[in-house]
Amino acid sequence: MTAPDPITLITDLPDEEEAGCLAELAAAMPGERIVPLRAARPDERARCTIAIVARPDPAALTALPRLAWVQSLWAGVEQLVARLPDGKPPVVRLVDPELTRTMAEAVLAWTYYLQRDMPAYLAQQRSCVWQQRPYRKPADTTVGIVGLGTLGSRAAERLIDAGFRVTGWSRMPKTLRGVATCHGEDGLAQLLGASDIVVCLVPLTHGTRGLLDARRLAVMKPGAALVNFARGPVVVAADLLCALDDGRLSHAVLDVFDVEPLPGNSPFWQHPSVTVLPHVSAPTDLRSAAAVVARNVAAYRATGRIPDGIDFSRGY
Ligand code: NAP
Repeated sequence: MTAPDPITLITDLPDEEEAGCLAELAAAMPGERIVPLRAARPDERARCTIAIVARPDPAALTALPRLAWVQSLWAGVEQLVARLPDGKPPVVRLVDPELTRTMAEAVLAWTYYLQRDMPAYLAQQRSCVWQQRPYRKPADTTVGIVGLGTLGSRAAERLIDAGFRVTGWSRMPKTLRGVATCHGEDGLAQLLGASDIVVCLVPLTHGTRGLLDARRLAVMKPGAALVNFARGPVVVAADLLCALDDGRLSHAVLDVFDVEPLPGNSPFWQHPSVTVLPHVSAPTDLRSAAAVVARNVAAYRATGRIPDGIDFSRGY
């Protein structure tokens, strides 16, 4: 039996992290030869049909003449999609149940943080203020999820199970157990007007860049809070700061930013109504990601069929 074509690993990770990726991938695919691009011989580059990537230089992909598809180790692939505009090679993003679970956990955790008024108690503690605030039950708290895909749907289910009222917005109409779903511009306005906490989980595309701007933030319920676990540019930073400064929004939990790491002079760092997280809501778990990638590669080897990938026309 002839050995399968080598798989190329292309990342911009520090050497140690890339070596960790390689070790997990090799353990999950003992029958495959996986070679970091810089170590690949010319004949291996010429034969390679699959690339496994983490924020690769797109030029490196176009330099592999037989490349049939690209498997991302990340769930979000907007930078890659933006820089491979003709849809070639096909890009398969990571859909990993462990990452989905981690994101749903993060959504629930930070929803509780806001529902239990933790930002206000933190501020009170700093000023030695002993004051009980009114308790708001989950059943009296509406969480609006902007983006009801793999991550948003699972987060919605966890919130429903925890007793919250949940409404969700997607591009196409959708039904989900216990969730009031909506779509379109009117649907978004309804969700924003009804939600005590808005959680952003849409991919960054031409349709969602700047989605939460001054106009849409203005229709949010007075005193509502925003959680952005999607990508920084989905929310217009300056407009969000205005809404927080004038008290229309009570708080923002931000895990993603226009520039990461967040620059030291960003007003978000010191803002009393902002919680800054360093892009940690759902990190890739290398072991489970490698198992997902191994299943995709095995299916491709067995059938020749490329796993379902990004639709470049819609951008996600
Ligand atoms: P997904 O399965 O592709 O779902 C995307 C959802 O957004 C779908 O419900 C889709 O609607 C909706 N959507 C997309 N464009 C829209 C538009 N123009 N108008 C209305 N709805 C729109 O993506 P996912 O796996 O849930 O991931 C979402 C994003 O989370 C990723 O793209 C990534 O940016 C982010 N993420 C962040 C972290 C982190 O650590 N902070 C980790 C992983 C992922 P339809 O259902 O109608 O298609």
